[in-house]
Amino acid sequence: MNKRDYYEVLGVDKNASSDEIKSAFRRLAKKYHPDVSKEPNAAEKFKEAQEAYAILSDESKRKQYDQYGHAAFDQMNGGSGFDFSDFDFSDILSEIFGQSFGGAFSGFGNFSNFGSRGQTRSSRGQDRLMKMDLTFEEAVFGCKKVINLDVYNECPECKGKGGKGEKTCPTCYGNGTVTKEQNTLFGAFMTRTTCPDCKGKGKVFDSKCSKCKGTGKVRENKDIEVKIPAGVDNGTQLRLQGKGDSGINGGANGDLYLDFRVKDHVLFEREGNDIYLELPITITDAVLGCKKEVPTLYGNVKLSIDAGATTGDKHRLRGKGVEDIRTGTKGNMYVVLNVVIPDKLDKKQKKLFEELSETDLKTGEFKKIDDYLKKNK
Ligand SMILES: [Zn+2]
Ligand SMILES: [Zn+2]
Repeated sequence: MNKRDYYEVLGVDKNASSDEIKSAFRRLAKKYHPDVSKEPNAAEKFKEAQEAYAILSDESKRKQYDQYGHAAFDQMNGGSGFDFSDFDFSDILSEIFGQSFGGAFSGFGNFSNFGSRGQTRSSRGQDRLMKMDLTFEEAVFGCKKVINLDVYNECPECKGKGGKGEKTCPTCYGNGTVTKEQNTLFGAFMTRTTCPDCKGKGKVFDSKCSKCKGTGKVRENKDIEVKIPAGVDNGTQLRLQGKGDSGINGGANGDLYLDFRVKDHVLFEREGNDIYLELPITITDAVLGCKKEVPTLYGNVKLSIDAGATTGDKHRLRGKGVEDIRTGTKGNMYVVLNVVIPDKLDKKQKKLFEELSETDLKTGEFKKIDDYLKKNK
């Protein structure tokens, strides 16, 4: 799936300010809003702009996108991108097209919230956080996990309406508000408040749905499979849209965030997308040079170590690190040598070392201290 970059969609650069993002969306909305546009594919273009704006105008979503790209929102939505049906575009669209435009909407999909100001506002469900343990390999290569969740679905009994026999509220005559006269010291005032009977909806039911107790949603405990993308690490949070708590009054569900804890590997250490391996070598291998078989994330490789190697020498294996969760490019692996000095020698070894010690093993590095010692004699 090749989704366009959100910044590209809006035609702004990565460091664009929120004002620049807003005005870019405004320009596109004017051009592509399906109620005004004559452009081919206007609806599609408009939808794309809406999605980009819904993400980039929200500071925390923008941050997530900057970090993980589309992967941040792809989960649980069949890979079809961020579902922005809960995003309230009414402010910015009325700013662009004027209040009168409200009535002109032709029932276009995502504007169910438009013009609903003043009535009971639906509210979004709470977000939730779930800790998830991953093995080192699961985090590096991605995996599928099954989690058990309470999910909230539309009530099949009332089709999400919350009751049966919908009718106009007799208290407010469908207005959603009631006007009350209040007598105070300064005289009588008329105040308008949300209708207590229909909670501002303007409609009431003959009977409340017994299955969902009027909420329109039913809870279901379910095992769901989650795809964990390759490259997650400790502290990476993955957002599962709509899997948090149930929304209120038709509001969208909250989101569920998975927070990963990655177990240590027996050999590898991970730093970002780079992998470190400490490789022990013997003193003779270090002195004479050697070829060593080295494990990597992608199978064993042969590593040539030159004569004269020393502890701390770093060998880079390009591209043998972790795949970046956002860009897909791989980090590097670094093999760090550790020359292990034996603390026990058998007779033969001891003899060989003694013979060796009679030869001159001093290199240029010894000169400085030798000279200094001589001078102070
Ligand atoms: Zn009412
Ligand atoms: Zn129901």
